[in-house]
Amino acid sequence: MMIRLHDTLTREKRDFVPADSGRITMYVCGPTVYGRAHIGNARPAVVFDTLARLIRHEFGPDSLVYARNVTDVDDKIIASAEAEGVDPSVITERYERHYLEDMRALGVRDPDIAPHATREIAPMVAMIARLVELGHAYEAEGHVLFSVLSDPDYGILSRRDREQMIAGARVEVAPYKRDAADFVLWKPSAPDVIGWESPWGRGRPGWHIECSAMIRAHLGETIDIHGGGLDLIFPHHENEIAQSRCAHAGAPLARYWVHNGFVDMGAEKMSKSLGNIVTPAELLAQGHRGETLRLALLSAHYRSPLPWTDALIAQSKAMLDGFYRKAADEPGEIDEGVVEALRDDLNTPLALSRLSALEGATLKASAQLLGLLQGSAAEWFQGDADAIAIEARIAERAAAKANRDFATADRIRAELKADGIILEDGPGGTTWRRE
Ligand SMILES: [Zn+2]
Repeated sequence: MMIRLHDTLTREKRDFVPADSGRITMYVCGPTVYGRAHIGNARPAVVFDTLARLIRHEFGPDSLVYARNVTDVDDKIIASAEAEGVDPSVITERYERHYLEDMRALGVRDPDIAPHATREIAPMVAMIARLVELGHAYEAEGHVLFSVLSDPDYGILSRRDREQMIAGARVEVAPYKRDAADFVLWKPSAPDVIGWESPWGRGRPGWHIECSAMIRAHLGETIDIHGGGLDLIFPHHENEIAQSRCAHAGAPLARYWVHNGFVDMGAEKMSKSLGNIVTPAELLAQGHRGETLRLALLSAHYRSPLPWTDALIAQSKAMLDGFYRKAADEPGEIDEGVVEALRDDLNTPLALSRLSALEGATLKASAQLLGLLQGSAAEWFQGDADAIAIEARIAERAAAKANRDFATADRIRAELKADGIILEDGPGGTTWRRE
């Protein structure tokens, strides 16, 4: 069986046939770097990393060019920089570094190409100028807007009607817009705000044009796979499609559109604006291992919602304990059943249940295809032994404090610190993290 992927554009599972199996192109919308990534942000990184591993297994290690952008100019970044009184680059470099650390901890390999918006202004300006020249965009009061009514295919991805589109885009009502659904390609920057010279004055790009221009610059007019979270279908990906098709004589932007579902906290989607986030950094600091979080993120099918709970983390850890007990330290042949499950629209729950029936060198190799069992069993269980020992010391310290023996309590804290373990006392008790 060949790989089959659910394509959001056609709403069906299709055989994955790349345009050039020697150079398969995949683009995934990456982070806007102004804060720490949460588990919901980590899901696409882990899902598309797993798809990249599968494609390389099927077509060869050098068959894929995987690009994931870094949005390093954005109103939220500008606001953070102003709040801290620093240059925006201080914010973006800090949070890009954290993002890469957090994703690597989850076993996510760095993409082949990581284009940064601030370094790709010229191709964006060129694409905007082309859209203006072709009558698909217009200048108004220092802004350049995409004219939605100029594109009869606008809406092909999200299949929304006009009312839903205008409501869903939450677009600003602005007097200079010809149509309420028109969206910004370029906007003016005040003198003290980050900006670049352009034919329309000093300003900065809108978010959507960034991906269209960088895809064109690094991968070509039409790519094989475009990925991202479900929330990007509209308006972001709809707008990417409109810009790219109109600039490229109708050439489709992507041959397969793949979207992952949300991570839920209780009844709601985990999101920064709802304030219900949990970050990989916090979970790792609590002593959970990156592989545990990765397995938890792969435990549901990527298109389904994933309810994030403590029980899920515990189950994932228990499953990995079982795998490490049964696996050999050296990988052997990959189990064909695991590969078949992944080929079927990345059915990771089925692949994990297949892994549970394996052992030895086959288990090791097959789990590694999902980015799991990267270390040795000795390292894995040593990590547990360390955690148990640290918890015992924390309990000893709590008992000392209860007896008002602060000298002992302080000594325990100092001894753990010497081993690189930091204790943090909070209302719920003491937690620990590695320095
Ligand atoms: Zn994008």
